[in-house]
Amino acid sequence: MGPDRAPDTAGPDRHAARGTLEGPPRTAEPSRTRPTPAVRPPDRPPTHTATPGKMEAHVTTWTDHTAERPISLTAPSGVDRAAHHRLDEAWLAAAWSHPSTRVFVVSGGQVLIDETPDGRTELLMTPSFEAPLTEAHRYFLGIDDDGVSYFALQKDSLPGRMDQSARAAGLREAGLLLSPRDAGLMTHAVGLENWQRTHRFCSRCGERTVIAAAGHIRRCPACGAEHYPRTDPAVIMAVTDESDRILLGRQVHWPEGRFSTLAGFVEPGESIEQSVRREVFEEAGITVGPVEYVASQPWPFPSSLMLGFMARATTTDITVDGDEIHEARWFSRDELRAAFESGEVLPPYGISIAARLIELWYGEPLPTRSFV
Ligand SMILES: [Zn+2]
Repeated sequence: MGPDRAPDTAGPDRHAARGTLEGPPRTAEPSRTRPTPAVRPPDRPPTHTATPGKMEAHVTTWTDHTAERPISLTAPSGVDRAAHHRLDEAWLAAAWSHPSTRVFVVSGGQVLIDETPDGRTELLMTPSFEAPLTEAHRYFLGIDDDGVSYFALQKDSLPGRMDQSARAAGLREAGLLLSPRDAGLMTHAVGLENWQRTHRFCSRCGERTVIAAAGHIRRCPACGAEHYPRTDPAVIMAVTDESDRILLGRQVHWPEGRFSTLAGFVEPGESIEQSVRREVFEEAGITVGPVEYVASQPWPFPSSLMLGFMARATTTDITVDGDEIHEARWFSRDELRAAFESGEVLPPYGISIAARLIELWYGEPLPTRSFV
């Protein structure tokens, strides 16, 4: 809907309205980690900076501080993917057999996790000589600063040795528990596995393909085509209106009380900004003007990349599509806080970037609840 009509630059009204975002305390972030706010209170008219040619309206206020407080699955893992080694079979063989190398099995999106004596949760990894290589596909995931190489083995099932407290877990759970290194390794491996399992045949000629590049390419022996892991861009957006309320929706299959940001896949032939506007209009009947990118998140369920936005609505009358979204509502901060407290709305949980987008608008940490 009407992306051409959306203003490309921030006007004074929009600028001033955003000033209210700085109102509530943000106790989750120490002030030193935040840049000087680019907005001023809404009762003061916006003024330009002293630098000629530079206007404050160019400065975004939505940008999240993901470098200081990464979104789940996006923290620096300390593992260099070292893609230049993927085609070097001799190097890969030497890395595999090195005693410091660590290996874990991924199967059906799950891995084995274990608790350490000091209460941390870690990916259960073994030296390669203990790894169950039989009937497994081997993925090279990278090297860390100490020179340790990491591999994942894709198998039809997880190993039977559930010693100690080890147990199987998927990424939605493990992503909340694991260290950035382990979460990063698992996200990489799960993404590769999801692609490998569903792309066994050449999409050009139909022949069965073979794995190459340590799990990062599938080659067709018949027509020579090379197939690469696919990533499907999806947009997820926190939409706010002129009164600084947020639009949250409940999907048809979600339980009562679960509300979140709207989201959807980018379609062929459209920009991500167009996709934001189309999805919001399709799902809630709301027209969106300005759209600002905030942050992204790998979402290998099975192969998405979530692109997170803040978006400003230019209309407020909601018409849900009824197919994907069962209900959508505008919430002020006070209304959302009251709905959390009464249990009418369940606080977001889990690893999704949706919680961070809502929190960015909310201005303080959202209430937490345990993983379900
Ligand atoms: Zn082919």
